[in-house]
Amino acid sequence: MGVTSTDLKRQAAALGFDLCGIAPVADHSRLRFFREWLDRGYAAGMDYLHRSADRRADVRQVLPSARTVVSLGTVYNADRPYTTRDANPRQAAVARYAWGDDYHAVIQERLDALLLWMRSTAGEPFEARAYVDTGPVQERVYAQQAGIGWIGKNTCVISPRLGSWIFLSEIICSLDLQTDAPALDQCGSCTRCLEACPTGALVAPGVLDSNRCLSYLTIENKGSIPEEEREAVGHHAYGCDICQEVCPWNLSHKTAVSQDPAWQPRDGLDAPSLLELWERTDDELRVLLKGSAMKRAGVRRLRRNLAVALGNSSDPAAAEALEGHDEPTCRDPLVEEHVAWAVGRLRG
Ligand code: SF4
Ligand code: SF4
Repeated sequence: MGVTSTDLKRQAAALGFDLCGIAPVADHSRLRFFREWLDRGYAAGMDYLHRSADRRADVRQVLPSARTVVSLGTVYNADRPYTTRDANPRQAAVARYAWGDDYHAVIQERLDALLLWMRSTAGEPFEARAYVDTGPVQERVYAQQAGIGWIGKNTCVISPRLGSWIFLSEIICSLDLQTDAPALDQCGSCTRCLEACPTGALVAPGVLDSNRCLSYLTIENKGSIPEEEREAVGHHAYGCDICQEVCPWNLSHKTAVSQDPAWQPRDGLDAPSLLELWERTDDELRVLLKGSAMKRAGVRRLRRNLAVALGNSSDPAAAEALEGHDEPTCRDPLVEEHVAWAVGRLRG
């Protein structure tokens, strides 16, 4: 009895994980960068990152007996073209990870099944915590230490075999599992992501200023989108994939494609038009977002984003549609302010 690294990886693959590696719990030097990043104000309004900084600095703050971290990667890339180049300004850009089912729920179920298998195989009790994105752990650092991939200049973990369209998750445990070698940085002299970012949010290789990042501004940001960034929002209705779409390790959207039904675009999110989304009722949008990762932003913030994107669309029908739609969230002051900006831009 006992969990071997080989059996664990085989079981992870059987449960639908595409990548699995094991890292030792240690004071990895990259973990220290997080506090410096916070001190520079790059977390923008994500106060929870400041509150959990001590725990994020060391997983032993979360689980004192922790010895290893099992890092897992799940490809979510669906077989659809990229939108960065030749983008249709009237089509809503939604980050690929949010097209299908909410990954938190889907992957947590798989993680729980893997942990159950570990407990039944270990032959001894052990302590563990399993997280999908939401835990106070620097999962990208552990993914790199576990050999899943390196942290690219775009701050995403890039697998040399599968690219960066991957969900990360991990099991922190008190078992002394056999660990893997860390992944080597393979960005080399490439700077495509830094050059392609429409807002200059990648202020240095591997350093993201969330205050300027469209993913932050259209998802986590609860307030107004700064006026100086609204034009750069372009047709982005939720999140941004530009710095991943231009990455040579993701060169074709077919590089690593998932057939998992969980990540396929749901009806209404398969290349939706901005206008069609805007003209839905609040209840219809709630139904669309139910069970999707997009519910994090909610209907009100989605409308705010749609207003900005429609303002950038040059669609002659957009101004009238923005002013004429009368759902409760359209009358929200936050949304009204963005609608006024958009109508002003559309009417020149
Ligand atoms: S997600 Fe978009 S805005 Fe954010 S760093 Fe990448 S390219 Fe820039
Ligand atoms: S685009 Fe180039 S620099 Fe940016 S993450 Fe990909 S390989 Fe690294």
